[in-house]
Amino acid sequence: KGKYAHEPTFLQAVEEMALSLKPLFEDPEKGDYYKRAFCAIAEPERTLKFRVSWMDDAGNLQFNRGWRVEFNSVLGPYKGGLRFHPTANEGILKFLGFEQIFKNALTGLAMGGGKGGSDFNPKGKSDAEVIRFCQSFMTELARYLHPSTDVPAGDIGVGGREIGAMYGQYKRLKNKHGEGILTGKGALWGGSPFRPEATGYGLVYIMKIAVEKGLGKSMEGMRCALSGSGNVCQYAAQKCIEFGAKVISVSDSNGCVVFEDGMTTEQLATMIDCKEVKRARLSTLGEGFGTYHAGESPWSLEDLKVDLALPCATQNEINGEAAARLVKNGVVGVGEGANLPTDMDGQNAFRAAGVIYIPGKAANAGGVGVSGLEMAQNAQRLTWKPEEVDTRLKDMMAYIYQQMEDHAPKGGTLEQGANIAGFIKVVQGMKELGWFY
Ligand code: NDP
Repeated sequence: KGKYAHEPTFLQAVEEMALSLKPLFEDPEKGDYYKRAFCAIAEPERTLKFRVSWMDDAGNLQFNRGWRVEFNSVLGPYKGGLRFHPTANEGILKFLGFEQIFKNALTGLAMGGGKGGSDFNPKGKSDAEVIRFCQSFMTELARYLHPSTDVPAGDIGVGGREIGAMYGQYKRLKNKHGEGILTGKGALWGGSPFRPEATGYGLVYIMKIAVEKGLGKSMEGMRCALSGSGNVCQYAAQKCIEFGAKVISVSDSNGCVVFEDGMTTEQLATMIDCKEVKRARLSTLGEGFGTYHAGESPWSLEDLKVDLALPCATQNEINGEAAARLVKNGVVGVGEGANLPTDMDGQNAFRAAGVIYIPGKAANAGGVGVSGLEMAQNAQRLTWKPEEVDTRLKDMMAYIYQQMEDHAPKGGTLEQGANIAGFIKVVQGMKELGWFY
């Protein structure tokens, strides 16, 4: 803890995982072995840090920091997104990379764990500035990427525009075309059908299973509170609506919007246009787009009745107080579209109330899962039919749910099941490769 005190979110992720693995650590025969393995896994194999210099529209040279945490390659190439956000730092990217190892293991595909990004803030920048930044970022990162070494994707602040600009720069630098060194690519240049949709759709697919199995009912008519309004939220909202559930909230970092009777497909299209085309704030949407609450999040509203909470914005958005409020307001299930959106107190409050809780590493694994399918398609130089990818995504989420059930200790939780299933796979791989003994 002393060594990484300056990386509190990383420590939080490691501690949560360790608490979850307690039944393994207490095993009389293999407890010590698992504890040592855990310590080995918690240290990244390699962290790359680099300067990113780029020219703003006024002709000034600007500098940002870039990172790629190549955390664990036991199961395959380092795989995990790039985040461009002013709060990104090595500790945040380490927490995300650490989570990614076990998430990727749960998909059943051959992918190791990694994460990267920059403290560059795309907000308020022109397209040309973002493109110049991406080109400069890739100029550094390109030397570390290869389809069988390290294959990043998008995350907060990195969507189709950014992936396009980075891939374009890679092609110019390397004279290699059709190389699967990024996922989330456009359909014209190697992208998989359903990759943009995959995280949000996967989240709702696994929640549907959880609700049907855990509560014996359908999602139809359920009031789903979503946070965020970016990639994950947009497609989770679309799938909720398709399944007959009500999307009663969305948000951005300035405030949230409530739709008492559920968001309509027209309102969803308006939100997507606002975020992806106009790159504007939800506050600009005004009348006809629900009720805007400045400075609030869906988790801070006192009397919002909620059946399912689907946080899709960022880490630590739900603390103990917010979780207690959700419980008071009727929540029966939580599915994490974002990574680590519920802090430890929040998780404890959900557990104490018997709320179904599907942690991010299971609930949002559909994104990286379809990234894995994109890598497979790139390797074959083929594009599969959309229905085929969607069917595989559904099957993958069902497989992940099954692993959670199968590995949950007696009297334990699905979350423990997810953590134990992912951890055991990685440890076994490390042992077989002679990396741990
Ligand atoms: P986007 O950048 O597309 O959207 C992020 C959304 O969250 C925006 O609405 C943003 O609002 C909001 N947000 C970001 N930071 C904050 C904050 N500090 N407080 C309040 N709101 C905030 O990102 P994604 O949708 O891709 O990612 C969302 C989450 O899902 C992240 O935790 C990411 O790690 C996780 N995830 C994403 C995957 C993917 O495939 N994209 C895969 C697996 C997990 P604003 O516009 O105001 O910044």
